[in-house]
Amino acid sequence: MSTNCIFCKIAAGEIPSDKVYEDEYVLAFRDISPQAPVHILVIPKTHIASAAEVSAENAELVAACFAAIAKIAVAEGLGKGFRVITNCGEEGGQTVHHLHFHLLGGRHLGANLL
Ligand code: AMP
Repeated sequence: MSTNCIFCKIAAGEIPSDKVYEDEYVLAFRDISPQAPVHILVIPKTHIASAAEVSAENAELVAACFAAIAKIAVAEGLGKGFRVITNCGEEGGQTVHHLHFHLLGGRHLGANLL
């Protein structure tokens, strides 16, 4: 656990969240400021600062996040499709420095990334 990391505190149950999925390695909860009808954050419980910190040593945690995303998408009725985004670093727009994947869906998101 990283001191003062809000997502570590959510993973530890110290800060409440609207949890939608949990397993040994992964927690998923609804974004507090949703940008789409379905907007869920999927995080590894272990602190990884960002996508820039992913390595062979922690790649299994990233795989676990994507396995969770596939399950959550089914549970949330996203059979027509969804988008997964991770913001990384200052220019990438990252505001919480604990690796997280935004799972977005529930409407047509369009072809543009930006
Ligand atoms: P990013 O800007 O990619 O780092 O995304 C951080 C996301 O975390 C934003 O979409 C916020 O709305 C969301 N967020 C921040 N604090 C909370 C919280 N306590 N519970 C749920 N979502 C949060």
